[in-house]
Amino acid sequence: MADINDPRTLHPKIDPPQQEQPHPGLDKRLEPKADLGLESYEGNGRLTGRKALITGGDSGIGAAVAIAYAREGADVAISYLPEEQEDADVIIKAIEDAGRKALALPGDLQELAQCEKTVADTVEAFGGLDILVNNASRQIWHDGIGNIPDEDFDATMKSNVYSSYRVTKAALPHLKPGSSIIFTSSIQAYQPSPHLLDYALTKAAMNNLSKGLAEQLAPEGIRVNAVAPGPVWTPLQPSHGQPPEKLEEFGQHSPLGRAGQPAELAGAYVFLASDEASFVMGETLGVTGGTPTP
Ligand code: NAD
Ligand code: MG
Repeated sequence: MADINDPRTLHPKIDPPQQEQPHPGLDKRLEPKADLGLESYEGNGRLTGRKALITGGDSGIGAAVAIAYAREGADVAISYLPEEQEDADVIIKAIEDAGRKALALPGDLQELAQCEKTVADTVEAFGGLDILVNNASRQIWHDGIGNIPDEDFDATMKSNVYSSYRVTKAALPHLKPGSSIIFTSSIQAYQPSPHLLDYALTKAAMNNLSKGLAEQLAPEGIRVNAVAPGPVWTPLQPSHGQPPEKLEEFGQHSPLGRAGQPAELAGAYVFLASDEASFVMGETLGVTGGTPTP
């Protein structure tokens, strides 16, 4: 890499060809391929010896964070839906190639028992837990509130809000001072798209929950923060995450003029998990390509 890089061109502007995948979608089938940092991320020992759990760590942003955490020295458990095993296999191998312990946790986090098992299995395999990244989410677009089937609304609330809340609750008894919890919000928390009403409200909830919990847990030495991504090229988008026409020129309306790649999110999650962020609590770090997160 050069000494200095222009963020406008560091990653290409993408014009994805027409494509659709069944939910939850696979990184493996994305066209063009997303950049998870597999070729580029270099660790600097910033998370040496930590034990991390990343929900939805099989693909997209969660996968980029899993790769980065392992290369920074953490053991990493990833949860995902059973249909995503092929993507998960790639990330498990990347964690092991970094010389760290990996744990694969397939299962549906809409279920309370699965949320609790995900934490229990991680603690058992790694002998503890210090970093929790609540990243799993479901995004299905609908043309108007009247067209959101109640079951869909329920599945989105359960996958996004309930899962983050329940996994966090199960993790808390295991977290020591110095631990870090990171929620994944979105630009949608501030500028909800009309076709993503249910999803957008779950992302606003992530900000609210992280701020309330940050204040509650600061006296225990546990830091809680959130990351709010802008448009990032991941399998969430072509698996009914956007109407097909919104995928054309994806992300080109951001001030930077292009979509983000998952690899560009990893640094924010590494920072918030590491001791460099020891005085950072209740913050939402926007990684949006220039759209303000007020
Ligand atoms: P992604 O599809 O790669 O990751 C989301 C993951 O969530 C899936 O891989 C899946 O394993 C998991 N998941 C969904 N429902 C689940 C369930 N019921 N049980 C278990 N796991 C479940 O997409 P991504 O874009 O990398 O999404 C990661 C996070 O980033 C999400 O919280 C999303 O809301 C947020 N985000 C993404 C964008 C974007 O433009 N891609 C923008 C803002 C916020
Ligand atoms: Mg996935």
